[in-house]
Amino acid sequence: MIVLKNLELASGERVDIEIDGDTIALIGNSKLSGIDCSGLLALPGFVDLHTHLREPGFEESETVLSGARSAAAGGYTTIFAMANSYPVADSAEAVEWLARHSSSLPIEIRPIGAVTKGLAGDELAELRAMANSAAEVRVFSDDGMCVSDEQLMRQALTLTREFGGLIAQHSQHPEQTVGSQMNAGALAIELGLVGWPAAAEEQIIKRDIELALELDAQLHVCHLTTAGAVDIVRWAKAKGARVTAEVTPHHLMLDEELVRSYDPVFKVNPPLRRAEDARVLSEALVDGTIDIVATDHAPHSQEKKECEWQNAAFGMVGLENAASVAQEVLIESGASDWNRFVEVMSSKPAEIGKLNADLSLAVGSLANLALVDPSERRTITPQTHSKSRNNPFRGRELPGKVVHTIYRGTFSKRDGEVQFG
Ligand SMILES: [Zn+2]
Repeated sequence: MIVLKNLELASGERVDIEIDGDTIALIGNSKLSGIDCSGLLALPGFVDLHTHLREPGFEESETVLSGARSAAAGGYTTIFAMANSYPVADSAEAVEWLARHSSSLPIEIRPIGAVTKGLAGDELAELRAMANSAAEVRVFSDDGMCVSDEQLMRQALTLTREFGGLIAQHSQHPEQTVGSQMNAGALAIELGLVGWPAAAEEQIIKRDIELALELDAQLHVCHLTTAGAVDIVRWAKAKGARVTAEVTPHHLMLDEELVRSYDPVFKVNPPLRRAEDARVLSEALVDGTIDIVATDHAPHSQEKKECEWQNAAFGMVGLENAASVAQEVLIESGASDWNRFVEVMSSKPAEIGKLNADLSLAVGSLANLALVDPSERRTITPQTHSKSRNNPFRGRELPGKVVHTIYRGTFSKRDGEVQFG
């Protein structure tokens, strides 16, 4: 039995929480003594729909274990692992390997299946076999690559609809982004870098939404980045499309001006856009047009990242400061509240990812919790639990600190220290 005393809930209510086994047994006044949690906010464990773990194939950048530790440090109790490992997670065998390999860790790791074999974009992967496997995959994505072939996308949406799955699309028109290095516009011209047009993202989102509407299929838009993309998703939702959208911490708070430094830590796919886009993304997260924050945690070794801009890999780590960015954008700004924070960090990603467990903070629910000190301010350091250091927020001060993470009634992080690995 774990007893947590003097917590605050998202609603502002003060309570104690008793955890019996893996289940919340009481929320209210506990007569038992326990761990004093004064000043801490009790939130449902965070759920990340978009993590890159790099194992198998790229273990110098991240392993399942190091990624799991980074996630627990950030308050996550469930993460969805993208399919672009090597070999690619495009078969029942590959997704079952990940489910099995991670089953003893104090975090739930859900495999995402590839949409096309080898992420090559030529033929569909074994979607139904992955869905029917022991890993019970429901989310499919070629993330890193776009399923740009319209016929393939149509087939994938049709097939996933049949078994209640969805396609998470990395929306990037390949022919419009050959050699692209940063957001297209005046700054790209000034810096002499090949631009990445907003239209390359928006045209694919528009096409996929029209397919989803026509087929009554479920589409999830990964990491949208432009004001125009927000308009399209808003339109689609008004039309009744079964579409959801995510935004990353870095696209909410950072913008293309950072590329002036030519520091590859700011090189990411899709690219950092204009400050105006970041402002619109934040508003859309507040008003619900954007459903969730997803990290797109993309660790890269020093060798791949600490070199000249042109040759550096795309991507940023994100698991350990996503909650702080969400707090900054939703709470510190005064634009929203902790109930909305819980939606974007936990309940809505769980719903989109079709997790079976009830993660709400209620008696009888699974005891997955993140206990956060919202009053703390901390300076982000590049040294994290990830094997990689490519953190674009390093040196910045952000609000909030995850003090404890509890997964199924077990501390995966306690008093600021990750408890496994
Ligand atoms: Zn992506």
